[in-house]
Amino acid sequence: MNGHSSRGYFGEFGGRFVPEVLVEPLRALETAMDDAFGDPAFWEEYRLVLRDYVGRPTPLTALRNLDAESSGPRLVLKREDCNHTGAHKILNALGQGLLAKRMNKVRLIAETGAGQHGVATATAGALLRLPVEVYMGSADMERQALNVYLMRLLGATVKAVDAGARTLKDATNEAFRDYAATAEHTAYVVGSAVGAHPYPTLVRGFARTIGDEARAQCLEQFGRLPEHVVACVGGGSNAIGAFAAFLEDQQVGLWGVEAGGVGLDRIGDHAASLSAGSIGVLHGARTFVLMDEEGQIGATHSVSAGLDYPGVGPEHAHLKSSGRVRYGAVSDDEALDAFCDLARAEGIVPALESAHAIAFSRKIRQKLDPEALVLVICSGRGDKDVARLALGAPALR
Ligand SMILES: *Cc1c(COP(=O)(O)O)cnc(C)c1O
Repeated sequence: MNGHSSRGYFGEFGGRFVPEVLVEPLRALETAMDDAFGDPAFWEEYRLVLRDYVGRPTPLTALRNLDAESSGPRLVLKREDCNHTGAHKILNALGQGLLAKRMNKVRLIAETGAGQHGVATATAGALLRLPVEVYMGSADMERQALNVYLMRLLGATVKAVDAGARTLKDATNEAFRDYAATAEHTAYVVGSAVGAHPYPTLVRGFARTIGDEARAQCLEQFGRLPEHVVACVGGGSNAIGAFAAFLEDQQVGLWGVEAGGVGLDRIGDHAASLSAGSIGVLHGARTFVLMDEEGQIGATHSVSAGLDYPGVGPEHAHLKSSGRVRYGAVSDDEALDAFCDLARAEGIVPALESAHAIAFSRKIRQKLDPEALVLVICSGRGDKDVARLALGAPALR
């Protein structure tokens, strides 16, 4: 159980807790991943798509105005909002799409809650000429009508799931069922660094573009590494992608920020699996999970749809246990404040998910060395949230 990540474990977390029929497909995916990750030609193809299609590298932006308003360390944003399609999720969707091509798969499937991962996968499918089918709970489809439209515009088929609560959990069940029957020719594109081995390792492999770039940019632009790196954690892909480049730099403090919602005391009020969950198995991996008294997957809440997930990637569970990364939470209101303040002070509208990382950085800055450099991952842009807020959801101050 306490093996190395190459066997799918991060300390006592991770693994591959799946039905028998999925074991072989996941083994084949693991072998293909190892082969691709060891092949410079694969990385060169990926690098060129990121450069010419996604628009990378994304910049680092120092927050001059926000910084001037209070004393303390400098905050520098890694601008994942500048990616094509507006967030880091495209890194993963394109990477898994390229791997699917390499494995001669002819079809992509995905599940989506808020629709962001569905849109990223639909985009990758359009570019790579692979048909895409996205499973989505019908309740989520009503709430996220714009993303449903967008996925269809991009040529994907959105499959409504009417089972259960008609949300992400139910869509995931359907996607698993599809994959079990079609894995020979279909690739299942998982949307975060979660799930059974090899997905957490596979997704990190693509997301670490964020950290590798930012590390080199800090050295070039500031002549040193940042003292702290802060990222929001939903499933944990943008955070693990950022942290991966700094894990060996023991002097760099790493901070993951979960959705504190309206308070951590009650299940259903937040989505902070690491801060308030317990150890269990979710989507094929042993990790921290939000459960109710009966051990069922608990309800979650966050103002940001992308953080609203009852589990977390198993590597984060390990990094919390080992103490290498510290995890905290900020509330809906704190995130909304950061969202508004960043827009006004800097002309940057972050995704509400990213606003959690920004809010947390401002909360801890007074306690940090004033000379410190704090790298904050701005995982995406807020255009998707503006429409919702404009239509009445929580009021702007
Ligand atoms: C999906 C999403 C997240 C959360 O996903 P992670 O896998 O935890 O990175 C964060 N920010 C944005 C903008 C997202 O779209």
